Amino acid sequence: ADAVTGRRRVVLKLSGEVFGGGAVGVDPVVVQAAAKQIATAVRRGSQVAVVVGGGNFFRGVELQASGMDRARADYMGMLGTVMNCLALQDFLEKEGIDTRVQTAIHMAQVAEPYIPRRAIRHLEKGRVVIFGAGAGMPFFSTDTVAAQRALEIHADVVLMSKNGVDGVYTADPRIDPTARKLDTVTFADALRQGLRVADAAAFSLCQENKLPMVVFAAEGADTIVRAVGGEKIGTLITA
Ligand code: UDP
Repeated sequence: ADAVTGRRRVVLKLSGEVFGGGAVGVDPVVVQAAAKQIATAVRRGSQVAVVVGGGNFFRGVELQASGMDRARADYMGMLGTVMNCLALQDFLEKEGIDTRVQTAIHMAQVAEPYIPRRAIRHLEKGRVVIFGAGAGMPFFSTDTVAAQRALEIHADVVLMSKNGVDGVYTADPRIDPTARKLDTVTFADALRQGLRVADAAAFSLCQENKLPMVVFAAEGADTIVRAVGGEKIGTLITA
């Protein structure tokens, strides 16, 4: 939380799927809808930083499968996230919300470099900080970056919006009709039962540092507003 005002501070992870609406490229309709929800949450007093995925453009593993060097492919993946950042920035500013994009790979014409203390300052001023280019390092994922950024900027929680699933289930609900949604689960239990919803590195960062994670559905008219506002939604994972 904000050390001075006590306002809730969150990191929201939006995957590339959210930006592409399931296709390659950026779907303005879905990005605008996400921006409107983030704007509402900010107006209600939360501090919001967004970590942006890039799977709607490139995923390193997929390019590797078609013969590319993995690290170079991962850099393409990271550059893709920055296009999503700019799209989100544009729609947030149309909603009247001040934003700053900070990237882990320097690109001075379009974004600030990632400077954690400055990111905190932006949040204190009510700006939305949009983190792009992942960690700037190949072999990482934006899920892991969401956990890392949340820890570094002292967020209260990392919010993972997921397409096609509204929380953590006892089994894969697409395969097992008896699968039940869990309201809460510990990282240890989720790992023990193989309930992997974010990647393992993100999970272990949160577990080791006692950072709560909420997994919730990207779909729906108000899921982001509810998750950012701290309502009970999706599954809460705790240490
Ligand atoms: N990526 C990376 N390092 C990072 C973050 C991302 O190399 O720190 C690359 C990786 O190739 C990944 C791609 O960027 O596949 C897009 O990110 P991600 O798959 O996490 O996006 P999402 O699945 O959330 O859309």
